[in-house]
Amino acid sequence: MPLPVRSSVEEIAEYKPGKLIKGAIKLSSNENPLGPSPLAVRAVLESLKTEELKFSIYPWERNAETLREEIARYAGVSAEKIVIGAGIDGVMDTLVKIFVDKGDEAIIPIPTFSLYESLVQMAGATPVYLPRIKEDDYAIPAADIIAASTEKTKMIFLASPNNPSGNRLTGDDVRTLAESIPEALVVIDEAYVEFAEKSSVNLVNEYENVVVLRTFSKAFGLAGLRVGYAIVPEWVVSNYRKVSLPFTVNNVALIAAVAALKDKEHLRRSVELVKEGRSYLIEQLQGSFRVYPSQANFVLVDVAPRTSAEVYKALEWKRITVRDCASFRGAGESLIRISIGTPEQNEKVVTALKSL
Ligand code: PMP
Repeated sequence: MPLPVRSSVEEIAEYKPGKLIKGAIKLSSNENPLGPSPLAVRAVLESLKTEELKFSIYPWERNAETLREEIARYAGVSAEKIVIGAGIDGVMDTLVKIFVDKGDEAIIPIPTFSLYESLVQMAGATPVYLPRIKEDDYAIPAADIIAASTEKTKMIFLASPNNPSGNRLTGDDVRTLAESIPEALVVIDEAYVEFAEKSSVNLVNEYENVVVLRTFSKAFGLAGLRVGYAIVPEWVVSNYRKVSLPFTVNNVALIAAVAALKDKEHLRRSVELVKEGRSYLIEQLQGSFRVYPSQANFVLVDVAPRTSAEVYKALEWKRITVRDCASFRGAGESLIRISIGTPEQNEKVVTALKSL
C-alpha cells in the first residue's frame, strides 16, 4: 500500500517540459538553435583525454571557483557575490529552502514560469498569485505587488524578461519593490537577459534584498548540462552554501560553462540569430494574430478565436512543437509560445500558422 505523502506534495502539479518528438522541429523549450559553443564541447573532450576530467571523481571545488571567477568577469560583479547551482531551477530550490518556511507567503505575478509556485508549495507556504495586465502586454505594476505584500511575504518572483510574455521589469520598479518591501527577497529571474535590452544586475550591489538569477541553458546553449547561477548580496552566500546540496554542478558542466563564457563570438551569433528571428516572426505573424512584443528568445501569440490546444495539435501534425500556454496558471486557453529557431525553422512555423 502506498504510504501517505506530505500534504504539500499532493497539491503540487508535475512540471511539464516542452515536448520532444524525434525528428520534429522543437520550438517548445526556448533552447539555443545553434547548440552549444564548439569551444565548450572541445574543452570537455580535451579534459577527458588529459584525464583532468574523470567521471569517477567528485566535482572539484577549484572548477567551481574558476567558474565563479569567469561569471564575475562576464556579469561585471565581484566573485564573492556569485553562487552556482544545477540550473536556475537548482539555484531557486536552494533560495526557497533558505527563505521560505511553513505558513509564509510568496508573491507570484502570473502567467509566469511554473516552478516558482511548486517550490513555494513544497515549502508548505502559500503562493499569492497576482494577475499581470494582459492589455498592457502582461506588465505587473509595482503598486499591485506592494498592495499584496504582508508581513508573511518572504519572496517575490519576477522573471524579467518574463516567460511566457517576453516583457521585462524596469530598474525603477525593482528599486521601488526593494525599498517598499525590505523584509522580502526580490528575485529577478534573468534566464533570458542576453536577449533583452537591459539587466538589473547592478541593483544587487545597491540592495540587501535583491538577487538576480541567470543560466547557461538559453543563450549559452547548455540546457542539458544544468548550470545556473545567482548574483546575491554577500550575506546570502554562507546561507546558500549551508543549504545547497554538495556537488550539485557536475564537473562536465563546470568545464563546459567556463569555456562557453570565453566564446564571445558564439554568444554574439546566438543572440543575433534570436533577435533577427524574433523580428521576423513578429512581423510575419502580427497581421494574422495578436503577437506580444518580446525581449526573450520566444514570442507569445494569441491564437483566439482558436484555442491553443487546437493550434498546438495542428502544428504537431506538421511536426512542429510549440508551447501550449494553457498549462501556465492565468494564461487562458488561446496563447501559444514559440521559441525562436533557425531561419528555416522560423519560416516553417510561419507557413504552418498562416495555413491553419
Ligand atoms: N527561469 C525561467 C523564466 C525559465 O523560463 C526557465 C526555463 N524554462 C528557467 C528559469 C529554468 O532555467 P534552468 O534551465 O537554468 O533551470
